[in-house]
Amino acid sequence: RARIADACESVGRDSRTVTLIAVTKTYPGGDVVALAQLGERDLGEAKDQEARTKAAGLVATHPQLRWHLVGRLQTNKAKSVVGYAHAVHSVDRAKLARALAEAAAKQERPDPLEVFVQVSLDGDPERGGVTDADLDQLVDEVAQRLDLALRGVMAIAPIEADPDQAFATLAQLSERMQRAHPGAQSISAGMSHDLEAAIR
Ligand SMILES: *Cc1c(COP(=O)(O)O)cnc(C)c1O
Repeated sequence: RARIADACESVGRDSRTVTLIAVTKTYPGGDVVALAQLGERDLGEAKDQEARTKAAGLVATHPQLRWHLVGRLQTNKAKSVVGYAHAVHSVDRAKLARALAEAAAKQERPDPLEVFVQVSLDGDPERGGVTDADLDQLVDEVAQRLDLALRGVMAIAPIEADPDQAFATLAQLSERMQRAHPGAQSISAGMSHDLEAAIR
């Protein structure tokens, strides 16, 4: 949080515009309890099975927690994910968007599932993310689904690239998305090693 505050101060941003999502993948549920005691509400996980098990173990005692799926997701996990997840940050194809929307509709959730469309900044299909050419169509697919709430874009900075340049491209894609979908203002970006660049 100190790093986030410093990064915000250096570019004149209000740190309340930044949400820290503590990524707890590979860490046990006990660590999530410790984070919750420190006031952390937003947890990130990469895999459905691990996330589902942790969420199920904590839902009774810590109902305030919001689980965010940040890893690549198979379509057949949609039904499970909508049972506990607040948001999915890695929606990168229409088939997955449809599966999540249909599963969320059946689940009769109190709130729609929040969705970030993951974009590829280097065109490498292995790392996930929709290409620039297919972005607008996927965004429209998500936006028209009442059981999904389009929040914005997500990307992982390519390993070899300058993160400032990568996140600047992401900000441009976000602006493009907001022209058609003014409510989708959020940008999901930054890890431990590049969060300052993401905030800039
Ligand atoms: C694992 C992961 C993170 C967290 O990475 P750290 O280096 O532990 O900060 C963030 N975002 C995504 C998409 C991840 O898969």
